[in-house]
Amino acid sequence: MDYLDSPDEAEFRTKLRKWLAETDVTDWRKASSIEEARPLIRQWTSALNDAGYLALTWPVGEGGQGLSPVYNMILNQEIGAADCPEYPGTINIFARMISIHGTDEQRKKFLPATFNGEIIWCQGFSEPDAGSDLANMSTSAVKRGDTWVVNGQKLWTTYAVYSDWCFLLARTSSDGPKHRGISAFLVPLDSPGIEVRAVHLANDDPETGEVFWDNVEIPDKYMLGKPGDGWKIAMSTFTYERNPAETHVMSELRAWLRGAERLAAECGVIDDPAIRRRLADMYTRIEGLQYVGLEQVSTRVKAGIAQPGEESSVGKLLWTYAGQELQHLILDIVGPRTVVDDRIDAMHDYTWSRVLSVLGGTAQIQKNILAWRVLGLLRA
Ligand SMILES: Cc1cc2nc3c(=O)[nH]c(=O)nc-3n(C[C@H](O)[C@H](O)[C@H](O)COP(=O)(O)OP(=O)(O)OC[C@H]3O[C@@H](n4cnc5c(N)ncnc54)[C@H](O)[C@@H]3O)c2cc1C
Repeated sequence: MDYLDSPDEAEFRTKLRKWLAETDVTDWRKASSIEEARPLIRQWTSALNDAGYLALTWPVGEGGQGLSPVYNMILNQEIGAADCPEYPGTINIFARMISIHGTDEQRKKFLPATFNGEIIWCQGFSEPDAGSDLANMSTSAVKRGDTWVVNGQKLWTTYAVYSDWCFLLARTSSDGPKHRGISAFLVPLDSPGIEVRAVHLANDDPETGEVFWDNVEIPDKYMLGKPGDGWKIAMSTFTYERNPAETHVMSELRAWLRGAERLAAECGVIDDPAIRRRLADMYTRIEGLQYVGLEQVSTRVKAGIAQPGEESSVGKLLWTYAGQELQHLILDIVGPRTVVDDRIDAMHDYTWSRVLSVLGGTAQIQKNILAWRVLGLLRA
């Protein structure tokens, strides 16, 4: 396999680098409140769209540019290297699902509005009793005439408090295997009967939420796919979500490593052999993860497969371990300063890194997927 850019890829990278250098970017991650962050996320999404950097790998007839997944990697690498806000991942997750499974009317309504930042999506899958065992969900949608009436509760809905619409899974049938009775819906979060409550993570950010559904009426035209298609659609979203190679993850890990080096210099431990060894170890692990991603993307490109598969779980595990260990290293570098020096807050990102082994499916679930579905090992 060739790790270097082809002439076309190199040209794309050069143009993108120039655009990023010339674009005035306000980083929504530095916003002090949700109210402040929302318009910035919309502006960044819309700027990427206007410049032609969204939906690169979708087929041409489906609103994309028909490029190989390598271009998604380049896009995310360059965005990270330029220290710009991350690529809006929901484009390749929810918008892609709408482009594949949606009706013409749904595509027309949702895709332009998502691309220009008007709609920010959240993912309403998990519930208090349905996380790893997602098929156990009990939030129900019952058909009454032309509407579905939804009752139940979702939990851990990331950015629920930022979002405009929810990509919802709900139970529409209790007959047969549990996962076959699940359907997908697109729901405006300001619908009567929806209550969103922020859930603060250990770092105190209101990053996730609980969403309560009390007789919420959803027009039939907002069901995505057919009744019972929800499981298939959800599994596709996971392969995108868990795939670090084509998302902001590599940029984030590299930014954390640059931060670790800077802090080691500031805190006077950059010449400590143990710290240097750990920094070098993190560097090789992050670059190793990049090469795992390259190898997976390269295999797909050769086979003409656009969408990632269950091999994404390899990347999700390596990303989890690298991210958590790197934040642990930063905490060791900073030491007690994180408590006494107002300018250094290593605890915020350290506590956030603990959720890496839970969000998007736990580490144990990734190991199950790899053992049973990728390697074909026997179940005990
Ligand atoms: C910060 C954050 C953001 C999230 N964002 C979203 C979101 O936007 N939308 C959404 O729908 N969900 C979201 N989630 C939910 C996340 O997907 C679930 O928390 C996760 O799938 C685990 O489910 P659970 O919390 O119910 O834990 P459980 O499933 O109860 O798991 C508890 C423990 O048991 C282990 N376990 C469970 N089953 C097995 C098994 N079969 N084999 C081995 N071990 C097992 C797990 O690994 C874990 O250690 C988010 C979670 C967090 C923490």
